Amino acid sequence: MTEGTRVHSRVVVTTSWDDGHRLDDRLGGLLDRYGIAGTFYIAPHNVEIAARDRLSPAGVRELAERFEIGGHTLTHRRLPMLTDSAAADEMRAGKEELEGTVGTAVTSFCYPRGEYTSAHVASARAMGFRRARTVRRNSLAAGPPLELPTTVHAYAHRVDGPVALRLARLRPWTAAGLYLRWDDLALRWFDLCLERGGVFHLWGHSWEVEAHRDWHRLERVLAHISGRPGVGYLSNRDLPGQVRR
Ligand SMILES: [Zn+2]
Repeated sequence: MTEGTRVHSRVVVTTSWDDGHRLDDRLGGLLDRYGIAGTFYIAPHNVEIAARDRLSPAGVRELAERFEIGGHTLTHRRLPMLTDSAAADEMRAGKEELEGTVGTAVTSFCYPRGEYTSAHVASARAMGFRRARTVRRNSLAAGPPLELPTTVHAYAHRVDGPVALRLARLRPWTAAGLYLRWDDLALRWFDLCLERGGVFHLWGHSWEVEAHRDWHRLERVLAHISGRPGVGYLSNRDLPGQVRR
């Protein structure tokens, strides 16, 4: 995406997918089909994913040909449970291993489980990360580059009731649908983003989409948000500091 396109897009769509599960390959295929950019945050030795289910280095390289690869620590440890220096080591080791695999600089990062402190933000900056994503949801703002918020998680959070009610403009039946179905919630947020301008950021996990049999919901959302004139489709690394409103 060129600098000019970036500046003139009032509405930006970005997506990001965490963890480095082998199903990321299927997810990448779907993004390709709909022309949606995405960043895959990979922890190469993620202890929460069985070794046979992790994306192989060859799989990571294949994704890297079409998508941005971002850091997600080496083993997906919860950063606040570590000393600051051990946390920085985890972040750096993951970055270096991915850079060795894909052969280019890895400049975006995602805090595992969205858990971080100001020390981790400072570490991310110091080691050359220029974007870092959180798991804050329900935002259309560009946000601070090292604490990027998101809009919708491809997962039905049962705590989204008040947000659903607000988006449904207080119509209870519409709100109930948004509350129960994250794909409906995503469509509503996207339409609001078209109206008001901003960054629509969809994120999730391929393994979670599989576990909840949500591939059709994901495809429905991608179809709805794809190919819109005037909309910028960007990787996380290309997100603007601030989108023109
Ligand atoms: Zn993760």
